[in-house]
Amino acid sequence: MRRFQIAIVGGGPAGSSTALHLVRACGVDPQSVVVLDKQRHPRDKPCGGAVSTWGLEALAKIGLRDASRSRPMLGLSLVEGRERGTTRGSLGVIVRRDEFDAALLEASRRDGVEVRDGEGLVSLTSEPNGWTLGTTRETISAKIVCACDGAGSTVRKLLGLHEPARKGHLYVTDTPPMNADGPVLSGLCEFDFTPVAERVDGYYWDFPTPSPMGGDETWVNRGIYHANLSEARGRAVKASLARSLSARGLSIDDVTLRPFSTRPLVPDSVFMHRGVMLVGEAAGIDRSTGEGIAQAILYGEIAARHAARADVSGYDREVRASRVVRHLRQSAWLARHVYAPHGRAFRKLLLRSEHARDAGIRWYCGDALGGRAKVTLLGRLVFEAIRA
Ligand SMILES: Cc1cc2nc3c(=O)[nH]c(=O)nc-3n(C[C@H](O)[C@H](O)[C@H](O)COP(=O)(O)OP(=O)(O)OC[C@H]3O[C@@H](n4cnc5c(N)ncnc54)[C@H](O)[C@@H]3O)c2cc1C
Repeated sequence: MRRFQIAIVGGGPAGSSTALHLVRACGVDPQSVVVLDKQRHPRDKPCGGAVSTWGLEALAKIGLRDASRSRPMLGLSLVEGRERGTTRGSLGVIVRRDEFDAALLEASRRDGVEVRDGEGLVSLTSEPNGWTLGTTRETISAKIVCACDGAGSTVRKLLGLHEPARKGHLYVTDTPPMNADGPVLSGLCEFDFTPVAERVDGYYWDFPTPSPMGGDETWVNRGIYHANLSEARGRAVKASLARSLSARGLSIDDVTLRPFSTRPLVPDSVFMHRGVMLVGEAAGIDRSTGEGIAQAILYGEIAARHAARADVSGYDREVRASRVVRHLRQSAWLARHVYAPHGRAFRKLLLRSEHARDAGIRWYCGDALGGRAKVTLLGRLVFEAIRA
């Protein structure tokens, strides 16, 4: 049986980030690390592909500049009904997930990590000195296991962990640009809150994306995110998406739709169980946006530090106190307010105030908002609440 020091289950952004931080930032012998992924990369991954500068900077610190095709996110356009508020600013990039994830995994492989894609985890047994992992090909052992296996995490299931009561729901598609897509093609990312009035807890989006057919053309990645905060609303999601597409000149019957779920960070999210670290979406991602790529990269940075010490007992405490998990908690709080029936003032604030959108962009990119910025936002929120 092959023995490794560290087994990383899942080769998405969380798994690759953990492996790359282990080798490049913590000086761990790459040959002591194995990454298992049940799919062979490049693998298909339904996604909007938005990666904030927060995640890109974490990768740049370990010498990784994204080598896959991308489009810059050059601003934010927020919409609700006829109202629109636009702010320019750099938010990050939009990538094609198959290319982005494969490039990160290939970097781990080039660094000397044993990357086994096309080999899934099927069993996990606790031993006195670590874990025995049964894969679809053989049995291996490792002292430390990192669960980086995403929304449907097999490790969580094998550990007997419960799923959150409410996962987020998304539908996504890519289309060639339509006549009205000029602002999106210029780099603006559009978030449309109109579906909130149709009982969806979320937004419809249009992002510029490299064409899924390859080449230099820019397409539009579109979809709907439903944070699924209350039972009654879920059924309306697809109908609302149909209306949003129709407003852009597209028929829902003419596009290939991909339904998917996300695991949000919730108050009782678990970050470690029986000595196994949960990393990225296996732990929980952003509830207000449904996003998790940058967050997975940031979780990976923390998990690598603990795995490298061969002592993971401090992971739970550090990750809970980390900026990324505090950010995810703030996002969960925002989701409950922005998408709620009483959330009109929050949405109007974002639509009408340049200052609020600017703060939103900085927050999205990982900046902690100072006390003065928070007081200004609160004042404007109260003003919008009175107006509403
Ligand atoms: C429609 C949609 C749109 C999205 N849009 C965005 C967006 O624009 N921006 C953003 O930041 N986030 C977005 N997200 C969320 C984002 O895709 C995830 O949060 C992110 O991929 C999490 O990274 P991860 O590495 O934790 O998990 P994943 O990327 O899911 O990687 C997990 C890996 O584990 C592997 N795996 C699973 N089971 C096993 C097993 N048994 N053995 C071995 N390997 C296994 C899988 O094959 C997979 O490669 C979107 C999600 C959806 C569904």
